[in-house]
Amino acid sequence: MRRNVVVFFLMLVGLLAQAATAQKLRVVTSLPDYAAIVEEVGGERVGVNYIVQGNQDAHFVKPKPSYSLMLRAADLFVTTGLDLELWAPTLIDRSGNRHIREGQPGYVRAAANIPLLEKPVGRPSRAAGDIHIYGNPHIHTSPLNGKIIARNILAGLKRIDPAHAAYYERREKDFEARLDRALFGERLVKILGGDLLSRLLRQHKLFPFLKGRQYRGKPLINYLGGWLKAALPLRGQKIIGYHKNWIYFADTFGLKIVEYIEPKPGIPPTPAHVERVIRTIRQQNVKVMLIANYFERSKPRLIEQRTGIKAVFVPLSVRGEPGVNTYFDLFDLWIRRLTAAFQREVALKEQAHARNVGTDVDAVFGLSGAHWHPCLLWHPRPQAGSYFRGPGPGPDSGSGGYSGLSVRLALRIAGCLRVFPGLHHPGRGHLCPHSHAGAENFSRSHYRHRVCHSHGCGDSHCRPCPPWSRAR
Ligand SMILES: [Zn+2]
Repeated sequence: MRRNVVVFFLMLVGLLAQAATAQKLRVVTSLPDYAAIVEEVGGERVGVNYIVQGNQDAHFVKPKPSYSLMLRAADLFVTTGLDLELWAPTLIDRSGNRHIREGQPGYVRAAANIPLLEKPVGRPSRAAGDIHIYGNPHIHTSPLNGKIIARNILAGLKRIDPAHAAYYERREKDFEARLDRALFGERLVKILGGDLLSRLLRQHKLFPFLKGRQYRGKPLINYLGGWLKAALPLRGQKIIGYHKNWIYFADTFGLKIVEYIEPKPGIPPTPAHVERVIRTIRQQNVKVMLIANYFERSKPRLIEQRTGIKAVFVPLSVRGEPGVNTYFDLFDLWIRRLTAAFQREVALKEQAHARNVGTDVDAVFGLSGAHWHPCLLWHPRPQAGSYFRGPGPGPDSGSGGYSGLSVRLALRIAGCLRVFPGLHHPGRGHLCPHSHAGAENFSRSHYRHRVCHSHGCGDSHCRPCPPWSRAR
């Protein structure tokens, strides 16, 4: 008797679970990131599945029959709606599910209403093999876009399940509020509201605004928290990407992507292009590469060996690595890994500074007429003594010859890391103080024109040498 009761109870639980599953909306997304946002908005009313794995390249997914089966039963399909998932229309066709075709109620275009970056001028074309022809499709890499994606998903859920519209709306609003707090910090959101902050951030006006205004006797910037505060050390930093999938992230967090290992999106790098990347890294003294973890490692490793740059491999998507289970986890991880990589650079500099003479010191150029800049200490691949080629004419065409001292020795004598007195010809040379380039960039023309043409800042930042670096 007792056994029968247990069996009956188990059957009941099974039936109830089945009924609950049956009631849930079946949502399929292309990316796991969209699935994570569907879970945020849809809560217990949705069952979500996704096609691209978190450590997989969404551009190149083979349309397997199992994916078509997934879509056959779907009530809603969420996809970017650009050319990221070129395989999606084939899958929809094969699924035979008319309700999730583009334009139908069960189709959600995640990119709707998102201001696209890197939009090509002129007519879209794949003539050069490009796979970003409508603009950059990697929209989920900015939390500002995450909010718009959530609104698009909300609209889709309401279309197919209007009876529970209020439930979805409440959850979507809560998701946006949590995203705002995670991005700007709780205090700033309370003072200014997430909408205004998001608008200013997208327009690149947030930081001037926060620095220029006060609240209760303190600059507003003091109230900044969240990811933006954690990512402050990243603002203005240069990085290298593998593929153009970080542009929205970089735009939001103030990073400058100066080069990509791929010559064009989807086109594998040639040896000549890799050489160009290496030159750029050296000229601009780029310290970090940010690379989605599904890319091959050989080219990044080669570039690391040749330049001393640090490659940071991260999942591009939710569930691309253990522990990255939500949309929030993704930004936590990206910012943590990147700031750690840049802090490593700072730590190395400090270590070398503490030793007064680091191994890099010998890489400082020893050309006559040259003074030196602390940035030059951090030439990525120091080769002891290799820049001591005198005697000969100096870079500012002054009379030639180096002093005969190694920089290491001269430093000990001068006792100062910043000034290398005695080698500069007063009044002749001008050096861009922002230059992080190695000695090879301090060409004669660089001096003669008194403007730095070689390291890429190309603007009015190039000024005469700062007073502390002038020769006495
Ligand atoms: Zn792409």
